[in-house]
Amino acid sequence: MGLPFHFRYDFLDRVLITPEQIEQRVAELGDQITRDYQDSEKLMLLGLLRGSVMFITDLMRHIRRPLTMDFMAVSSYSGTESTGFVRIDHDHKASIAGWDVILVDDIVDSGYTLWMVRKLLLDRNPRSLKICALLDKPERHKYPIPIDYCGFTIPDEFVVGYGLDIDEKGRNLPYIASVDLKKYRKE
Ligand code: 5GP
Ligand code: MG
Ligand code: MG
Repeated sequence: MGLPFHFRYDFLDRVLITPEQIEQRVAELGDQITRDYQDSEKLMLLGLLRGSVMFITDLMRHIRRPLTMDFMAVSSYSGTESTGFVRIDHDHKASIAGWDVILVDDIVDSGYTLWMVRKLLLDRNPRSLKICALLDKPERHKYPIPIDYCGFTIPDEFVVGYGLDIDEKGRNLPYIASVDLKKYRKE
């Protein structure tokens, strides 16, 4: 597929998911969440900064029930398979105890980030905790992570757009595109 507009990012390879496909799928996820949480008293969307920003703001428009939104920013380091930690750069503001929390992220790669954050959040006693990811690369999974709401499954390629970046570039693209890493490294 051709690139509708490239925003002068010369390292893009091709569009994997168009704005129309994203819009439709995000609306479906919103409908599904609306149905699944109709009996919930306290629903909180908890987004991981910064990759999930475009996704979470679109998604919440399609959830037709009261909710609150909060954010966390984390950096994760995976040393060996069995050890590792996640550093909290910014923590959520309100307590999640007793809340039905949906943790929202841009993409699941090894699954390490969400695996660690999920563990950490479960210790904070939410009423329930589910995971919503816009993208998933199943071929790359190393950690067992339950993805309750998944936008799209993609092949093992590095992608940018719709919030996702490469060295902070490409977040404003309205589609998901793969990166030509050879071109990128020459720039
Ligand atoms: P994991 O902890 O699952 O290995 O990695 C998840 C994080 O790595 C994502 O939240 C994202 O920040 C980054 N990441 C993994 N794959 C991609 C990709 O294809 N494109 C971009 N832009 N970031 C990715
Ligand atoms: Mg991330
Ligand atoms: Mg990034």
